[in-house]
Amino acid sequence: MRTSHIRVIVFIGFIAISGVLLLQWNWMAQALKLKTEAFDKDIRMVMAEVCDMISIANGNKPDLRYPIVQPDENTYIANVNDFIDTVVLKHYLEKYMAQAGLDLAYEYAVYDCSYEDIVFGCQVGPIEEDLSLGQENFDKKVDYLYYFALRFPNKKAYLYSGLGPWNLIAFLVVLVLFFFAYAIWILLRQRRFSEVQRDFINNMTHEFKTPISTIAVSSEALKKGSMDAQKAQTYAEIIWEEAQRLNRQVEKVLDVAKSEKRNFELHKIPTDVHEIIGKAVEKIRAAHQLVSENLECQLRSEDRMVELDPLHFGNLVFNLLDNAIKYSPDDLCIVVRSFDRNNEMILEFEDHGEGIDASKLQRVFQKFYRIPTGNIHNVKGFGLGLYYVKQIVQAHGWQIEVESELGKGSIFRIRIPRT
Ligand code: ADP
Repeated sequence: MRTSHIRVIVFIGFIAISGVLLLQWNWMAQALKLKTEAFDKDIRMVMAEVCDMISIANGNKPDLRYPIVQPDENTYIANVNDFIDTVVLKHYLEKYMAQAGLDLAYEYAVYDCSYEDIVFGCQVGPIEEDLSLGQENFDKKVDYLYYFALRFPNKKAYLYSGLGPWNLIAFLVVLVLFFFAYAIWILLRQRRFSEVQRDFINNMTHEFKTPISTIAVSSEALKKGSMDAQKAQTYAEIIWEEAQRLNRQVEKVLDVAKSEKRNFELHKIPTDVHEIIGKAVEKIRAAHQLVSENLECQLRSEDRMVELDPLHFGNLVFNLLDNAIKYSPDDLCIVVRSFDRNNEMILEFEDHGEGIDASKLQRVFQKFYRIPTGNIHNVKGFGLGLYYVKQIVQAHGWQIEVESELGKGSIFRIRIPRT
């Protein structure tokens, strides 16, 4: 699928889902507002009825218009203006609350002007907090003689739970949103995967084609048999070198395939790390005709013995050194270090080559990933070297990190814990 199509799909999907979410949010806010108004009305009615009954119980005539104030969202205060018998209050409060169908926890308290204090406090239903209707909630602004206050700590949750189907719809919309995001993620991943696969096949064809055609041309010339021994020797060497190169490429792919096998097992033995690094360095120096200034060793770890798989570890060192050379276009200056730090052996492979852009740093360990270079293909590779390195590091239970700056160089660091 073309990038522009994907962008259009993502954009339309995003707009559609955002629209539905906005509508949904608006409906829920409206519904909650109506529910809150109805709740406030019910509570005021219950409190007015309770005030009536308190007055009647005291042998007085009900006032009919008891002031009820709401100092905050969850608290209601009713002025009775008469002595409050807490038994009467409790009885009628519970009765009218039940009659109004208000099935939620609450606490209430009574203020008595003759004591200038709260004389009674009680909780009904499960409330997690302690009784919070203290003196501070009985605001001095409320200028009443006798009053009682009601507080509903769970009011919001109660009102939300009353929204029933709205909650379900909101949940479904969020689910759709997640599903959409997931589908887009899969789509993009699939696309990247096929791009990577295509690049790999192009790369491989290119990498194999060059040695194969060199071998074909050289062997064709040898077949004619009309050349002197010296020339024949040169052609035979070319064929040998190209065959070796092909072999190395195949080995690289096979190494990765092996390290990915489900029952992949390391054959760990106590190994001299410095010795393996030394051998790899010698091999690379010989292959690229390097002097020790180009590729330097500073191996200073006190204890050079580590339990590891020598074969895979050798490949790992070779891959890192090979990359350091491949990606150093100018003068070579590579340093391999080993030292001890906080109960760990640290191995560093530092080069002063082209470096890696910070945004690509974490991707270099991904399978088949090669930093895009446009149409310039002067450095060969399959994007498997660092992936293999990471697989081997992880299989040993070590860690690998990379520091790099574009145009300045890179340091690949392996941390080997001492057990
Ligand atoms: P490749 O076969 O392309 O070398 P690797 O997995 O070894 O594959 O490396 C992945 C990419 O990381 C390379 O394409 C290269 O762009 C970048 N890279 C690896 N090592 C270095 C390095 N030492 N300096 C700069 N770039 C590097």
